[in-house]
Amino acid sequence: MNINRDYTTVNPDNTGARGRKGVKSDYRWIVIHYVGNADANGFETTAKNNCIYYRDAKVGASANYYVDSTGVYQSVPWDSDRYAWHCGVGIGNENKYQYLLNDGVSQCNNATALGVEICVCKLSVKTKNVGDTDWYFNEATYDHAVEFVRYLMDFFDIDISHVVRHQDVNSIHKRCPRPFTSDDVNVYYKKTGNTLWKEFKEKLAAVDTPPKQPEAPTASILYRVRKSWADAASQLGAFSSLKNAEALADKNAGYYVFDDTGRMLYPEVSTAAVCQAYQVNAPDGLNLRSTPNSSDSGNIVKILGENTYVLALKEQEDGWVYVKYTGDNRVYEGWVYKPFLSISAGLYGKMVSSPDGTLNIRTKPGIKGSVIAVMGNGFGFTVLEPVPGTNWGLIWCGETIGYCDISNAYSYRV
Ligand SMILES: [Zn+2]
Repeated sequence: MNINRDYTTVNPDNTGARGRKGVKSDYRWIVIHYVGNADANGFETTAKNNCIYYRDAKVGASANYYVDSTGVYQSVPWDSDRYAWHCGVGIGNENKYQYLLNDGVSQCNNATALGVEICVCKLSVKTKNVGDTDWYFNEATYDHAVEFVRYLMDFFDIDISHVVRHQDVNSIHKRCPRPFTSDDVNVYYKKTGNTLWKEFKEKLAAVDTPPKQPEAPTASILYRVRKSWADAASQLGAFSSLKNAEALADKNAGYYVFDDTGRMLYPEVSTAAVCQAYQVNAPDGLNLRSTPNSSDSGNIVKILGENTYVLALKEQEDGWVYVKYTGDNRVYEGWVYKPFLSISAGLYGKMVSSPDGTLNIRTKPGIKGSVIAVMGNGFGFTVLEPVPGTNWGLIWCGETIGYCDISNAYSYRV
């Protein structure tokens, strides 16, 4: 499918800053939207015109792609240093009205999700309200959306469970994309939006995987054969063909193939799922990185101070550990190097026993912190560190690390 490009020029008003160029592995989600407008006859406003509008207008919103009956227009490139604002969850902007869709590895937010806007038609143009039940997609547009989203899934290696509606990541009140939301019956399709969404996802899953598109023309990847990404001196060769790189690694025990971002591609590194709290043991601080790669200064998400607590979710056999860290009123995720972590002694367990049945885990001590997760009575959690002078403490429950009231009013020691 041909992708036309007409990038928005009103940065930074409509986009967010990543602080480095985007890479494919930044994107783990695809969020589907509808443009929410039709022309005077109820036909779709085109992808091109929507793209031009968002190119020029300072509306505080943007999307990566617009799809219509003729094809696709791209407004925000995925590999620039800015990301689109389309699902309302910016880094640091989480609020209580949002679901914070999270797969245990990554949160669906503007920095991790590609936004796809589908152009839409309307049977009656007397009103153009989100509550109306006659928004529908032109058949060709629908087919293009299936084809294009499938292409994105293959290109970015995103599975069907990570293709979601704007509503799924934002809140039930956000009826976007309207034809695919809610249980009221759509007048055009004679089916509910939730049924239509299910059918759309079934179509996505059923499409034959198209042949892989070549990488973006500027990105000619070199596959490097090394002992580790950090050990550049061990490099035996660099190939544009992955197969040739793999063949060289096969002949040399202890060597691996890396892509340009330092991601180990071959042989597959075995990753073990864990759930373990660690404390940082690095007097000068420990870099939390977006990729398991210590030589790239552009992938540092945060520098973690000595004795900071992190929660490990998976560990690679090459020493890299994927962790969560809660601080600055938000949740960070990324990779750290295990030799700088230690298991802390003196932690203790508590069981939730709350008068109202639940206990919230928040991004910071006190009720002004955003709620990350809710524990019910009977949930066990581990207290990592009380916050001095308060009833609050840093705790860990399941795959969540954050703050809750650890006083005996809401839980008891086990
Ligand atoms: Zn939307």
